[in-house]
Amino acid sequence: MNLYVHVPFCAVKCGYCAFKSGTGFSTDAMRRYIDLVGREVSLRALRDVRPDTIYVGGGTPSLLGPAGIAALFAALPRPADGAEVSVECNPGDVSPELAAALRKAGCTRASLGVQSFSDRALKFLGRRHDASAARAAFAMLRRFGPPLVSADLIAALPGAPEGEFVESLRELAGLRPDHASVYPLSIEPGTPFARAGIAAAGEEIALKAVAAAERTLAEAGLVRYEISNYAVPGCECRHNLAVWRGEDYSGVGPAACSREGLARRENESAFERWAAAIEGGKTAFKEDIAVSPGDDEAERFVVRTRLVEFDGPPPGGGASAQRRLAALRRLSSQGLVKNAGSGRWRLTARGREVADAVMAELL
Ligand code: SF4
Repeated sequence: MNLYVHVPFCAVKCGYCAFKSGTGFSTDAMRRYIDLVGREVSLRALRDVRPDTIYVGGGTPSLLGPAGIAALFAALPRPADGAEVSVECNPGDVSPELAAALRKAGCTRASLGVQSFSDRALKFLGRRHDASAARAAFAMLRRFGPPLVSADLIAALPGAPEGEFVESLRELAGLRPDHASVYPLSIEPGTPFARAGIAAAGEEIALKAVAAAERTLAEAGLVRYEISNYAVPGCECRHNLAVWRGEDYSGVGPAACSREGLARRENESAFERWAAAIEGGKTAFKEDIAVSPGDDEAERFVVRTRLVEFDGPPPGGGASAQRRLAALRRLSSQGLVKNAGSGRWRLTARGREVADAVMAELL
């Protein structure tokens, strides 16, 4: 079982951010949130499950501080033996105490939102940390924190000086992270960037940046295993792998989504609406729909193609499996996927560049 926990607090809102999070919450609001997460876990009958993966994301989970992290994990179900437990951290919050609290709470990997090692880029993005804070946070997590450390970078910033992203990449590679995520900046509707009329850097720049990431991180031993993710073999994010392989997951906290059998659930995203439902002893679903078995199968199959190598449709499957197999053969003749044997398929380098089109073809 895979558990996602959404922490809806941020200290400031970054200019590009479309995630569900808010600012200006007090310490009391954070305590109330932790208590309510515990109540939601019980209401959803998740108290006695032993998750194989727990992913605490947001928002900014590290804003809870060392005591808040300990309290949050006390409110969550006890992970299974050998479980992966991830917590997203903002460099501005990381201290030796926070790193140690993560380790003590059973966290096995910290995911650090470095985004760039350029102060210019961090200022442009509206991040509250600078490059030296990112370096210090990485070092503290390595020394006092969980066994595995991942770092995020944002690529293809519009107007960035030539070479700025590659310098950040090289610096990250030099730190030898266990895992890295690299996302080209996209301009999402409703964000301050969109309102300011900032345009994305363009596909060519994004593709060049991603190619540089694949090359540079490979030199540091990190293999690309998903469109935007790279890991030292064996250090892939098991939670995200489970989601991409089509497994179920349950989400708690405001705006958290769940895929539970045929059910697709999404929690209320407004903190007070979520809190009122849980305080009233009810689940906080804004949406709770059942998809058809065909749509369920299609969704779980297509999400797999985010992985660089994925399982094809089952041999002897029904009409939809035959249709997908025919689509894979067609994509193979176009050089976008190739048969990896034993029923598995791989996206080619060109297929990775046009992954959205490949997914659409397989739907
Ligand atoms: S810290 Fe993360 S979640 Fe919070 S505003 Fe910035 S990008 Fe969004």
